[in-house]
Amino acid sequence: MGNCCSGSNGDAPDTEKPPSAKGNADKSSNKATPEHPPASSKPAKQSPIGPVLGRPMEDIKATYSIGKELGRGQFGVTHLCTHKATGEQFACKTIAKRKLVNKEDIEDVKREVQIMHHLTGQPNIVELKGAYEDKHSVHLVMELCAGGELFDRIIAKGHYTERAAASLLRTIVQIVHTCHSMGVIHRDLKPENFLLLNKDENSPLKATDFGLSVFFKPGDVFSDIVGSAYYIAPEVLKRRYGPEADIWSIGVMLYILLSGVPPFWAENEQGIFNAILRGQVDFSSDPWPAISPAAKDLVRKMLNTDPKQRLTAFQVLNHPWIKEDGEAPDTPLDNAVLNRLKQFRAMNKFKKVALRVIAGCLSEEEIRGLKEMFKGMDIDNSGTITLEELKQGLSKQGTKLSEYEVKQLMEAADADGNGAIDYDEFITATMHMNRMDREEHLYTAFQYFDKDSSGYITTEELEQALREYGMQDGRDINEIISEVDADNDGRINYEEFVAMMRKGNPEANPKKRRDNVFV
Ligand code: ADP
Repeated sequence: MGNCCSGSNGDAPDTEKPPSAKGNADKSSNKATPEHPPASSKPAKQSPIGPVLGRPMEDIKATYSIGKELGRGQFGVTHLCTHKATGEQFACKTIAKRKLVNKEDIEDVKREVQIMHHLTGQPNIVELKGAYEDKHSVHLVMELCAGGELFDRIIAKGHYTERAAASLLRTIVQIVHTCHSMGVIHRDLKPENFLLLNKDENSPLKATDFGLSVFFKPGDVFSDIVGSAYYIAPEVLKRRYGPEADIWSIGVMLYILLSGVPPFWAENEQGIFNAILRGQVDFSSDPWPAISPAAKDLVRKMLNTDPKQRLTAFQVLNHPWIKEDGEAPDTPLDNAVLNRLKQFRAMNKFKKVALRVIAGCLSEEEIRGLKEMFKGMDIDNSGTITLEELKQGLSKQGTKLSEYEVKQLMEAADADGNGAIDYDEFITATMHMNRMDREEHLYTAFQYFDKDSSGYITTEELEQALREYGMQDGRDINEIISEVDADNDGRINYEEFVAMMRKGNPEANPKKRRDNVFV
């Protein structure tokens, strides 16, 4: 990509270059300023490159004021922080660079940022607002979860009723399914890493701390022992594991929710590991005799020591116990990539080309996850995804589609109509619509179309841009223009352009989702 903007772009794994958005690079001296120019958030030109994030260092205090401490973990201290311009509150996790002693530690922080960017916008996952690096620290500005840790609520309650535990588990399993279908293993699921958005009894739950998470492709096998003692799966201890390890961890959580004590317990770490490897789960002590057989059956199946036999996220959601007090899906779960492809399919070509320009603006940090997913689907490493590869890729994520449906998605993403999806087409069609929140992206895209910098996109300019991307489809350009042209002057100004870009992005409206959980 690399057709615009200041961000360091991700290199395509192995693809030909897309048509470059010529002539839009140096329009900062533009006469025609749009009615709402973007707020400049660019760092000062002279800033040295930070060794962790690999981009110019920035002073977070220029944008946020840092408040009281909210909590601390192994690497980071989290503070309340306030966006100076808007007064909005966030949580800022600060990682001291002196604690990052080797290359691996630096890679871990980089990966945490990449994974949070990749998952941002997914329901029940803490949203990353931005990452900053200064001389001493890396700061992750996240959505504020003012309700504290799930851990503290469990302690306060002792243990949960089956009904409440089932409701909570349903949300947690959906989160795990989202991570897995997005190619991420969390590797540190435990009650401390689920936060509550607010102090309400029915506060939404949010997964956080992706500090130990990794990208994975189907079939990848991991060997490093990571996680927290009580929750580690036996195959992790045996150094041969994949995403199933996350299900084990939430099986341990379910046992704790129902009984108040961990299933594998000993005085020291080695003792806990031995208990995990033995895999004997006690269902005879109190309160287990009073717990329903269905609940015990589910715990047993989630804590199966053989990862191949263990239930998957989808199977857990279809277990009779979890279905008892509410609806569970009989159909495959939501798949983020599939949803994004479908959404992309419904867009007009104008918007598709604009997205392509914006995709070219995204930093390596932001698109790393999608790049991994692309590589996962591109089985023969050819640099393009064929119809068959798309079908297989989606089906590995648990989505079975008809030949016709896959073909339709393929045609939607395959902008140049060459019969396969290349890297840039994939990023364009699957990037998250919350990238529209960034004004500078929208402005760059507008400038791309507005070749003569008049402040308006004309029919001729749109025609030319579509041609550059091989996207003329015979549809009357005037028709596309008139859909967007609110003031009916036959051309598109910046406001109309922004309205088109932000319209109908369901993922940008998480309120509609069923993400409440009663705890
Ligand atoms: P570490 O990776 O170093 O263990 P965590 O990400 O777990 O750090 O954060 C440490 C603590 O900070 C958490 O246990 C929690 O209490 C608090 N915290 C983290 N993120 C948020 C957030 N988004 N909102 C509110 N508090 C948070």
